[in-house]
Amino acid sequence: MLNKKDILGLKDMTKEEILEILETAKEMKTRIDDSSKRIDEIKGCSIVSLFYENSTRTRTSFENATKFLGANQVNIAVGSSSVAKGESMYDTVKTLESIKNGIVVIRHSMAGTPNYIAKKVDAHIVNAGDGQHEHPTQALLDMLTMRRHFGKIDGLTVAIIGDIKYSRVARSNIFGLLTMGAKVKLFGIKTLMPKGIEEMGATICNSVEEAIQGSDVVMGLRIQLERQTSGQFPTTKEYFAEYGITMDRMKLANENAIIMHPAPVNRGVEISGEAVDSDISRIFDQVTNGLAVRMAVIKLLAEGK
Ligand code: ASP
Repeated sequence: MLNKKDILGLKDMTKEEILEILETAKEMKTRIDDSSKRIDEIKGCSIVSLFYENSTRTRTSFENATKFLGANQVNIAVGSSSVAKGESMYDTVKTLESIKNGIVVIRHSMAGTPNYIAKKVDAHIVNAGDGQHEHPTQALLDMLTMRRHFGKIDGLTVAIIGDIKYSRVARSNIFGLLTMGAKVKLFGIKTLMPKGIEEMGATICNSVEEAIQGSDVVMGLRIQLERQTSGQFPTTKEYFAEYGITMDRMKLANENAIIMHPAPVNRGVEISGEAVDSDISRIFDQVTNGLAVRMAVIKLLAEGK
């Protein structure tokens, strides 16, 4: 049983905890692939999602995960709730908790918001992405995808390429992958590399080619224009020509290498459309694996109560 109240990030998650979630997700996957397979449902538990930032995949997969588990799902449209009347986030979550929502899934543009709320309420808090900080369920689904392809994570070389500075996906993956024994290589243009990133334990590369060379997994990251200030980025056409992930550049990767991306993808910016649709791409499998990981997280938190 997962001995955690909340899922806030991978920084403080142990190898055993990550493995427990991945093993549970594997079990959940059999249910997704074959609806006749039974899993113990978690009736009586109510999950609410509170998204202060846009989302397609994360939000809908949490919703579907809840349905697959037979639990109740409530969505708060932040724009039309009391939040729009100036209610504090603490009061909103406390209210949701008072009407018996046991798990609150939060996405917010401010780093640390889920951690702050988690300390103040008894409900389980799941971080669905907080600013540039962490996106734990994304990194878990990425690791599930790698494990399904390679049968392991330990010993893999994973290149993370693109907008490292603004990416919560990069941070959660660096923490998780290093904990699981993978080697992580990073490449981003200078303005999109955060100061001190090398201290996290990843290898910094000087070109996209150097990052791809000898890697088993090549993970592209979206250029997050919405979080950037001006002057950090050349034109998208120049960026793609110099740094884009293409099938030609993928020839430098290891045999059996795969392409991943958390999506949304900007085709022709950080990655070519051909690479997204290629048979070595796992981008759409990642989305399905996200459903399994979110089912696992909900199940483990609900059972741990
Ligand atoms: N979907 C991911 C996130 O929410 C990646 C992205 O937005 O580019 O962080």
